[in-house]
Amino acid sequence: MTSVLDRPSRVNPATNLKCRHCGATYELAAIHVCERCFAPLEIGYDEDLLARVTRESIEAGPYNLWRYVGLLPAGHDPATRVSLGAGWTPLRRVDRLARELGMRSLWVKDDSANPTHSFKDRVVSVALSAAREHGYTTVACASTGNLAQSVAAHAASAGLKSVVLIPNDLEAGKTVSTAVYGGTLVAIEGSYDDVNRLCSEIAGEQEWAFVNVNVRPFYAEGSKTLGYEVAEQLGWRLPEQVVIPIASGSLLTKVDKAFGELDRLGILEGTPYRVFGAQAAGCNPVAAAFASGADTITPVRPSTIAKSLAIGNPADGPYAVDVARRTGGAITDVTDDEVVAGMKLLARTEGIFAETAGGVTVANLQKLLAQGKLDPDAETVIFNTGDGLKTIDAVAPTSGPTHSIKPSYSAFEAALGLE
Ligand SMILES: *Cc1c(COP(=O)(O)O)cnc(C)c1O
Ligand SMILES: [Zn+2]
Repeated sequence: MTSVLDRPSRVNPATNLKCRHCGATYELAAIHVCERCFAPLEIGYDEDLLARVTRESIEAGPYNLWRYVGLLPAGHDPATRVSLGAGWTPLRRVDRLARELGMRSLWVKDDSANPTHSFKDRVVSVALSAAREHGYTTVACASTGNLAQSVAAHAASAGLKSVVLIPNDLEAGKTVSTAVYGGTLVAIEGSYDDVNRLCSEIAGEQEWAFVNVNVRPFYAEGSKTLGYEVAEQLGWRLPEQVVIPIASGSLLTKVDKAFGELDRLGILEGTPYRVFGAQAAGCNPVAAAFASGADTITPVRPSTIAKSLAIGNPADGPYAVDVARRTGGAITDVTDDEVVAGMKLLARTEGIFAETAGGVTVANLQKLLAQGKLDPDAETVIFNTGDGLKTIDAVAPTSGPTHSIKPSYSAFEAALGLE
């Protein structure tokens, strides 16, 4: 007879919250900082429960991020799980782009294919599942846009109330596509960092689950699924190089964590890999710390078209720098003009219209190749984390009809130079 305990997907392997600095532990709850030293908390797991997860148990799961639920801290009961089916996005081999860049094996992990068209659906699905399991009925967040849309959509689908705070200068595409889900949407006169500060203050007053504050430890674990998927889609092996965009730095550190877990749990045979981080020059605090050899991040005031990455004081910045240094990678930045060129290069060569964050990634890939930091012959995966329709303003000024003509064949022939 099989019991529920024989199915790794039904058992929550998370046991507590652990301080990343002093190691103090806390009961699993919606809390995110250590009471002793104020460092961030992360999820602690029972290694024996994690070790029950096998390739077979994963492969028997659904084709979305919940196939990895045995390695996650929430969502174990499908009945209360908050899910729009995010995950299992395409890992596309991009030979035309590779040829243009002089590379041998290149893939794009295309997370624009998620339900609200960005990678944020992964983290939000896990965070809201945790929020619901811990008894919350209102979920909230501060957002540069993609998180806003994802929280509003997932909350709507689960009958949770949402309160979303955004800077008032967001792209119209992101504001409208958040408002449409019908939650509370508050536009604030200020930068994302101002919005985030206000959000922390509200979190001290209201009994809500704040996706990027008190349930952040759960939220962050959702990013691991991007790393698991890349490895599984490559045939259960690790790529040699990855290039990942950085906002708070959480995604980058969690992909590294995911690769390490798969190796440690014996799900694949670990091989060396190098992690590269990508930022925009108009918001480059992590690239700057990497370049100067600093261990701490000096906050900046963001000014870039890559708004989804515009976090001037990134919480996981120092951890991202550690990962890049430890794995022999690097963290670099590119100008807004290079971002636009990167978006167009990916669209023109591969038919993938990425948002500005994807342009940041492609442009940094070009830069890393030019600087000889990234090996053009090693297997490389770059992450496209959002859809170009979200940031259409970035390419609109330089993307229009190639010809504008009167409705006659002769005009058409003349314009295209046909005989
Ligand atoms: C949130 C986001 C990221 C990465 O965010 P981190 O805070 O570094 O985890 C990357 N790309 C897009 C489009 C995003 O919305
Ligand atoms: Zn501590």
